[in-house]
Amino acid sequence: MSNCIFCKIVNNELPGYKLYEDEDVIAFMDIQPINPGHLLIIPKKHAELVSEVDDDVLQKMIVVAKKLNTAIRKSGLKAEGVNFFLADGEAAGQEVFHVHLHVFPRFKNDGFGIKFPENYRNKTDVSELKIIAEKIKSSLDSN
Ligand code: 5GP
Ligand code: ZN
Repeated sequence: MSNCIFCKIVNNELPGYKLYEDEDVIAFMDIQPINPGHLLIIPKKHAELVSEVDDDVLQKMIVVAKKLNTAIRKSGLKAEGVNFFLADGEAAGQEVFHVHLHVFPRFKNDGFGIKFPENYRNKTDVSELKIIAEKIKSSLDSN
């Protein structure tokens, strides 16, 4: 995609500090890190949503994430834990519409957090969970 910033990083048309590259995937530093060490793993082939990415490429992305997770923890950067995060769609917080998996170091009191809805602590009735699970399961079967 000609106007996609991540495609431009893939094609070296925009600077991006690359950490890893193979025929399907690259990893590079996020320009606005949540914590030092924040990186992004993307498929080279443009895709807006996870559902558009080939399974073997998605598998590769998570394996690369595992390797970089280990590398971050060994690097000396502050990393008491590591988050993986992927926003699939605008309503999920996606701002760059080329699939990307965030990997970033975490430590106590680093200021990052996820905001939960007010009713989050209320447990859902098991019968309602069953109805919801059935809806998802029936769509899974028709995949
Ligand atoms: P999203 O909100 O879509 O999950 O995350 C987009 C991420 O892309 C953000 O963390 C943002 O800092 C990063 N980003 C946006 N533009 C650029 C860029 O030009 N270069 C790099 N390296 N990262 C970018
Ligand atoms: Zn793209």
